[in-house]
Amino acid sequence: MQDEYFDVIIIGGGINGAGLFRDLCEQGVRCLIVDKSDFGAGTSAAPSRLIHGGLKYLETAELRLVAESTHERNRLLQNAPHLVKPLPSMLPAFSWLRGSWAALRTLFGSTSAPRSRGALLVKIGLALYDFYGSRDRMMPRHKMLRHTAARQMVPALTERITAAGLYYDATITAPERLVLELIEDGVAANPDSMACSWTPLQPREGKYLTFKRPDGSTLNATTRYVVNAAGPWIDTVNGHLGEKTTFIGGTKGSHILLDHDELVRQLDGRMIYFEADDGRICLVFPYEGRVLVGSSDIPANDPDSVSCEADEVAYFLDSL
Ligand SMILES: Cc1cc2nc3c(=O)[nH]c(=O)nc-3n(C[C@H](O)[C@H](O)[C@H](O)COP(=O)(O)OP(=O)(O)OC[C@H]3O[C@@H](n4cnc5c(N)ncnc54)[C@H](O)[C@@H]3O)c2cc1C
Repeated sequence: MQDEYFDVIIIGGGINGAGLFRDLCEQGVRCLIVDKSDFGAGTSAAPSRLIHGGLKYLETAELRLVAESTHERNRLLQNAPHLVKPLPSMLPAFSWLRGSWAALRTLFGSTSAPRSRGALLVKIGLALYDFYGSRDRMMPRHKMLRHTAARQMVPALTERITAAGLYYDATITAPERLVLELIEDGVAANPDSMACSWTPLQPREGKYLTFKRPDGSTLNATTRYVVNAAGPWIDTVNGHLGEKTTFIGGTKGSHILLDHDELVRQLDGRMIYFEADDGRICLVFPYEGRVLVGSSDIPANDPDSVSCEADEVAYFLDSL
């Protein structure tokens, strides 16, 4: 096959490209999806592995986003129970009232999150989270624990804790697996569609979109609609398509895995969502017999060369 016409060409086989591919194929649209490496090998392979409802977006009053995310989380728990599991979570607070003033400011249009969150704010936040997560609810509502009860549950928690909120989110052990299943579903629904990994888009010359296949040959394709689903590579792909853009600001986020049996035991299957000293929210939870800690948010320009640096590891260990 040399030159082919597709109704839609999707460039990038991460979770966004794969989800769109499945949806269009189910509707009978003939699609081509390509990825420059394996499907789901980009950002979608290295998230914090949460299928979360966007608790942190309550702080910036992005309520519609929280409503949509909690609903999608509940649907994924229903539709993909082999991959997505409930994650009991704990949100410790180190005062009763801190952050309340900043939260009030949000009600009047401020978009900056409070730097520290007291027990009152945690209680209000989790009640709202329950409210927005009530459509197709799959998991119990939150509850609050005082100092002593929280330390009975996790004895290694610091003495400084005032109270803790207990709530549920969800986790996915193998996010790349979900990406692959969406693509397989799409091809099964519309066998005229095509899914090609290791087939990068080449800079455009003329009317065709040209892709380089793993065996060195080229695939030339035409279409009415091109979807750029290349995540952090969106500007490079736009450049190949002949359009110069700067949509991506360029940051990276890292995680570390710790071999720490005692921490695994203390967490007992729970995630702890905690404030680092700089007010950023970090997370720690058991992952495949180890403990996952994340994540950072640091300027970085080239998504192909990012890695976790020593200062990020030190930041995680200090914060823990
Ligand atoms: C540190 C961190 C933690 C996160 N944690 C979570 C979390 O816990 N839960 C959550 O829901 N979200 C999380 N996210 C967000 C989530 O990971 C992303 O929103 C999502 O993975 C983006 O998917 P995507 O399909 O848009 O991009 P990607 O998964 O990056 O897919 C883009 C694809 O395009 C391909 N591509 C690039 N150039 C070309 C080319 N020239 N030709 C063909 N293909 C090309 C790439 O190979 C790649 O596979 C996190 C993000 C970060 C950075």
